Amino acid sequence: MHILVTNDDGVTAPGLLALAQAMRPLGKVSVLAPDRNWSASGHVKTLHRPLRVKEVTLADKSPALTSDGAPSDCVALALLGLLDEKVDLVVSGINPYANMGHDVTYSGTVTAAMEAVIAGIPGIAFSLASDENSAQEEYIPAGHVAYRVVKAAIRRGLYKDLLLNVNIPNLPEEAINGVRITRLGLRVYRDALDHRLDPRGRSYYWIGGDVPTGVPDEGTDFGAIADGFVSITPLQLDMTAYPAAQELSTWQWSEL
Ligand code: MN
Repeated sequence: MHILVTNDDGVTAPGLLALAQAMRPLGKVSVLAPDRNWSASGHVKTLHRPLRVKEVTLADKSPALTSDGAPSDCVALALLGLLDEKVDLVVSGINPYANMGHDVTYSGTVTAAMEAVIAGIPGIAFSLASDENSAQEEYIPAGHVAYRVVKAAIRRGLYKDLLLNVNIPNLPEEAINGVRITRLGLRVYRDALDHRLDPRGRSYYWIGGDVPTGVPDEGTDFGAIADGFVSITPLQLDMTAYPAAQELSTWQWSEL
């Protein structure tokens, strides 16, 4: 089992080290992660500039590779031949802050796993549901959860056309209540546009506003995290709205 570990927070992020260390008992681990923070960068394919790759070491002295591309570029580089050995699984994270609901479309953590699925390799994204009030990020228990999830996925067989979006409560090990399989819930963004003037009187804008919340409905990722459970949401890249396609096909398009 050859596991590629990446993230969107950059190669020096503590969550990446925690995930790499958690994966080592499960197979050969290769690390290729961005050289800077790409959080909320979405799904990126860098085509208009070259990508550079450098050898670095993680805080535990283990070797890693870093690139100036996005998380999805790192996965593409690894799978397109940068790594000699075939990759069997891509894991991404452990991201500080949850990636739930509509976050999955913004998240570099999740889109790294999406890139794996596009290449026909299973992908699993791990995020820790910490927030700005958290005293610390509980990466050690989260690493244990990641180990158990990946071990179970390997044992039961990995889905090639699905990714697993895993969110972990930011709690000590004994306070985590278990695992729930969930659907994406409703993220409530409270973005507000901040319009300011620069010293030369020209307008500029910040997308600001309050921290997003979520609706903790039963069966959702938000609900599981609110109840202290690990949330595992299987995601597919086929975003087709099948009922709407059926409805649209009954319209009289020839009369338009
Ligand atoms: Mn991030």
